[in-house]
Amino acid sequence: MSIIIIGGSHAGISLAENLRRGGYKNKITIIEKQKNIPTEKPPLSKKFLESTFDEENIKLRNQSWFKDNLIEILLNIKSLEVFPHENFVRLYNKVEINYDYLVIASGAKANKLPIELIPIESQNILRDFNDIKKIKDNLLDKKHTTIIGGGYIGLELASSLRKADFEVNIIEMSERILQRVASKELSNFFTSLHEENGVKIFCNERLEKIKPLGSAFQINTNKNKFNTDLLLVGIGVTPEIELAKNIGVSYDRGIIVNENYETSLKNIFAIGDCALNKSEYGIVIESIHHAQFSASRVSSYILGQSKIKYEEPWFWSDQFDVKFQSVGLYRPNSETIFRKGKREGSKSWWSFNNQKLVCVEAINDVQNFSFAKRIFENKISVNKNQIEDQNFDLKSLIT
Ligand SMILES: Cc1cc2nc3c(=O)[nH]c(=O)nc-3n(C[C@H](O)[C@H](O)[C@H](O)COP(=O)(O)OP(=O)(O)OC[C@H]3O[C@@H](n4cnc5c(N)ncnc54)[C@H](O)[C@@H]3O)c2cc1C
Repeated sequence: MSIIIIGGSHAGISLAENLRRGGYKNKITIIEKQKNIPTEKPPLSKKFLESTFDEENIKLRNQSWFKDNLIEILLNIKSLEVFPHENFVRLYNKVEINYDYLVIASGAKANKLPIELIPIESQNILRDFNDIKKIKDNLLDKKHTTIIGGGYIGLELASSLRKADFEVNIIEMSERILQRVASKELSNFFTSLHEENGVKIFCNERLEKIKPLGSAFQINTNKNKFNTDLLLVGIGVTPEIELAKNIGVSYDRGIIVNENYETSLKNIFAIGDCALNKSEYGIVIESIHHAQFSASRVSSYILGQSKIKYEEPWFWSDQFDVKFQSVGLYRPNSETIFRKGKREGSKSWWSFNNQKLVCVEAINDVQNFSFAKRIFENKISVNKNQIEDQNFDLKSLIT
């Protein structure tokens, strides 16, 4: 019984680790297209301008870890073919590897702007260590940066760049930053935080033209015109599902999986950012938690253990001096209730949809975030009045 995992990042490595920890004795092969062992992704946007930032320090695992755990990692595999009915994979160099289980952990790719607007080589996207290396090189001798997209990656980049004294503009086409994923209250909070720290945010602005000016650019939106030295593009991601399409697995925005993360083809699974667990989440979840959770579901299935129970998605982001944590999924038109935290400046927003708690967003408030996580985990019912009442002790619901 051998396993091939395609993709050696957060989801793929978690799975290999879980399997070995759970006593899986057979062959595990990870196939990765990057040249080097992938790094952790969260520090890329948060810490890349700090002096301690170094590829070695943030590698997901060292070469010796793979050796010690008898996990083979094949790097720099540019292309491969999967033969799902014959249970083998053929690499670009004609090497063939058999499998009993195949797990697709191919993640997602960063979206780019249309080339009619700006050539690909002038777009600085951020998905892996090589991207951040390119951004750092391109920042040399530059002063003014513009980030297209007010999502978490764009905001984290803005925070890192401002801390290093770069000028930063953010252009967002929606009416507010984080519109797709967060409550209006949280968007307002981050808008103020960034503006207080000198970031200029332009919402409701569509890019109309980007004109090269030597090594810089002139940006024209439907409302403004300005010059910038460097353009960073953070406009979301698209699940990497080409491979799945080629082998005939069912897909939508991501590879469709059931609760065990099995695809429509026997003995083929998909985990992490490329997987769409329709029945439990309904959307593709792009987070470290989901990469690890989906990996746990697959390892427990393969090891014949009982299924790990459903977990509400959670996420974090660091910007300036703020630690943000959220649990659940924000839904449009929810009613959002404010709750003050115990510590100075700590707070959270609790969003209810049809009386049901759907999401909690916490700012420097680990305590309320932990309560919220436990409320979700234990399916405890909580209502708006309890949240609104600052004297109501949330702990009493949990213990
Ligand atoms: C800059 C940045 C900051 C982030 N910060 C946070 C954060 O603070 N908190 C959080 O929860 N999430 C964060 N995320 C999101 C999180 O990193 C992703 O959800 C997570 O990496 C998903 O893991 P994955 O293994 O599914 O996919 P990925 O990390 O995308 O890995 C997929 C791997 O598969 C490889 N691959 C793809 N196709 C093939 C193929 N055909 N053959 C071989 N190999 C292939 C790729 O090279 C890649 O290494 C951040 C993401 C980025 C980019």
